[in-house]
Amino acid sequence: MNRLLVPLAGLFILFSSSVSAVHAETVSEEQPSWSIAIHGGAGTLNRDRITPEKDAEIRAALNKALEAGSKILKEGGNAMDAITETITLLENDPNFNAGKGAVFTWDKTNELDSSIMDGSDLSAGAVAGVMATKNPILLARAVKDNSPHVMLSGKGADQFSREQGLEQVKPDYYATPYRLKQIEDVLAEKVSIADVDYKFGNVGAVAMDSDGNMAAGTSTGGMTGKRWGRIGDSPVIGAGTYADNRSCAISATGAGEYFIRLGVAHEICTRIKMDARAIRDEVQKTVPTDKGGVPENYVDPNRLMLASKDVQKIADDVIAELGQLGGTGGIIFATPWGQAGYSFNTPGMYRGRATSDGAMSVSIYGDEE
Ligand code: ASP
Repeated sequence: MNRLLVPLAGLFILFSSSVSAVHAETVSEEQPSWSIAIHGGAGTLNRDRITPEKDAEIRAALNKALEAGSKILKEGGNAMDAITETITLLENDPNFNAGKGAVFTWDKTNELDSSIMDGSDLSAGAVAGVMATKNPILLARAVKDNSPHVMLSGKGADQFSREQGLEQVKPDYYATPYRLKQIEDVLAEKVSIADVDYKFGNVGAVAMDSDGNMAAGTSTGGMTGKRWGRIGDSPVIGAGTYADNRSCAISATGAGEYFIRLGVAHEICTRIKMDARAIRDEVQKTVPTDKGGVPENYVDPNRLMLASKDVQKIADDVIAELGQLGGTGGIIFATPWGQAGYSFNTPGMYRGRATSDGAMSVSIYGDEE
């Protein structure tokens, strides 16, 4: 019952003229009008593995992407545009495992996966195993906006990309010396596939705009040495990406097989939605009724709010379950109440967040905010 008190009190301030003084005293949260969170992968990101130069380079890249998304939101743009722009910038940066800088498959090709979802109408687009589109997030968005489907794969997705007039690149566009060395080490059996990805470097963004609409997107090259057309969680709606205005927007990074099995992104949003409903029911019970049992007013569930610590706990619980299965990685979240944050079970995660109240930060290591 305790965990209902903060949101309950907030609700009374918003809704009820017959505010109980006891409840009103506990009001504590101000809601930002927009928020955004981004990630560039999670993993064994310890200070002794990253040079100061690389550390600075990654932070600059995250800042640039975060600023671009924030600018769109600050100027009244929508969440879909903000995350699309943010992810496009991260795809173009060779530091991350998405677009340029994508990891290599067993056959030394690059096969890219991406997805995007609009929380206002639950429309979604996804692509898997594409090999010629410069920015797979733009292709995922084109699938969402311009096709009757949700998910396209392989040659068909590449064909759709050309038909949509999206920028095409030669196969060697994605390659970087670092990623080539990784696959060569795997093929020479110098390292195992499990060891090479000491960090997952995919990219993602989630946002809420000033109209309360939410969006999520994720883009990746998958896992080094993947074979047989392996597809991870990043293009799977509900696993690596999910957005629903009623609950949250999520983008995941990590060992995709585990995220798919747990349906991580959808699972977190569902738990948030159910908790918000439970709070609504509790509040409704406190509204006076007439003799026939008809309440004086009906509580608007859209204006309910879960406390930040409760949202964080839901995310942490699901990531803990992922860990129990043996999975590593993390997620970023945004909520309809302006909260933006992270949860991960790895030593670090490339991440950043910003909200309309002026807060903005990028972080790498687990001990940072
Ligand atoms: N989640 C991605 C996958 O399993 C990999 C990553 O996070 O980099 O394909």
